[in-house]
Amino acid sequence: MSGITIALSKGRIFEETLPLLAAAGIVPKENPEESRKLIIETNRPDVRVVIVRASDTPTYVQYGAADLGIAGKDVLLEHGGAGLYQPLDLEIAKCRLCVAVPKGFDYQAAVKKGARLRVATKYITTAREHFAEKGVHVDLIKLYGSMELAPLVGLADAIVDLVSSGGTLKANNLEVAEEMIDISSRLVVNQAALKMKRDILQPVIDAFAGAIKSK
Ligand code: ATP
Ligand code: MG
Repeated sequence: MSGITIALSKGRIFEETLPLLAAAGIVPKENPEESRKLIIETNRPDVRVVIVRASDTPTYVQYGAADLGIAGKDVLLEHGGAGLYQPLDLEIAKCRLCVAVPKGFDYQAAVKKGARLRVATKYITTAREHFAEKGVHVDLIKLYGSMELAPLVGLADAIVDLVSSGGTLKANNLEVAEEMIDISSRLVVNQAALKMKRDILQPVIDAFAGAIKSK
């Protein structure tokens, strides 16, 4: 294909990326929330969008199945970022990666005592690095979603998960014990594609950069 393919995930990333695409003169012809299509054409014949699972975005771009993608820093930290050029922080889908515990659980005291904590998360790699750096002893339990449930049913003492308003934690009687990393979404570009298709890609990257600055 002589045009470019952009990998996006449904939901907040798609929604928050629409204004950036518009700044680059790109308008998707369908909304992935309504259409079940995974390949979406745009107003531009040389640009298409593919809809992927958020955690799969770096993989599509790494292998060149997509030339460009938008992925959360959480996802990029877990992926490792191999083969990806990350030119821009898009400042969308902002949240924080946090350690959360049941209300009343004294996390700092447990850490001080050197207790071994069971921590449930889908961010195994990032969590392992974080706790190793802090010298906290943990057994990590991999989950794929609804991390908040784990401490409520005795699967874990703590979770590592994304927090924005804190509403989900509160609704489940949990609270933030430690803020780990500020998260936002990044533009990721396939490095080979940037060389081969710079004429199409560079203006898109520049338009995104301009749109962020003027926000
Ligand atoms: P699913 O929710 O279907 O399991 P997912 O969790 O992989 O999929 P989303 O919840 O859409 O996908 O999250 C996509 C990205 O948006 C995350 O990788 C993260 O960077 C960001 N994100 C997730 N939750 C929040 C939030 N509460 N506020 C802001 N940004 C968030
Ligand atoms: Mg989610």
